[in-house]
Amino acid sequence: MLGTTHALFAILFGSIYIQYFGITDSFLLQILFAALLLLGAMLPDLDSENATISKQHPTASKLVRAVSMHRGIMHSIIIPVTIYLISFYLIPKFVDIPHVLTYGLLLGYVSHLAADALTIGGLELFHPISKFKIRGFVKTGGKLELLIASLIVVYLLVF
Ligand SMILES: [Zn+2]
Repeated sequence: MLGTTHALFAILFGSIYIQYFGITDSFLLQILFAALLLLGAMLPDLDSENATISKQHPTASKLVRAVSMHRGIMHSIIIPVTIYLISFYLIPKFVDIPHVLTYGLLLGYVSHLAADALTIGGLELFHPISKFKIRGFVKTGGKLELLIASLIVVYLLVF
């Protein structure tokens, strides 16, 4: 999926999260939540040379591509699970980070995987443990993706 569609998916996931769990009163944390939400949604595509995030951060992308093929480990559930474990079990031993920030990053990341799972290319959700592939029928940059992106915009405006 295109970067814009990933951003929309992330905003959708974030808004549903806020609807059900609420959000902190702190304006600073709200801004950081939104920033991490979008960052999480862009991170997986560091494994693709042509992605916007890779053009903005070529060195980071090169490092990632040295260890990961496109839609390899970066598009595996292993990464968000690892982020979760580090954020909730390791980091709190040293510093206190508000949970809402971790949730922002994780929601963005998971929204990216969910969106890519809808594409024809699909993704190996448990890479490299299993080659099991989840795939849909959406062509990246195609009309159906545009329709889905438009529907998300409508949802965000109406609800
Ligand atoms: Zn992707």
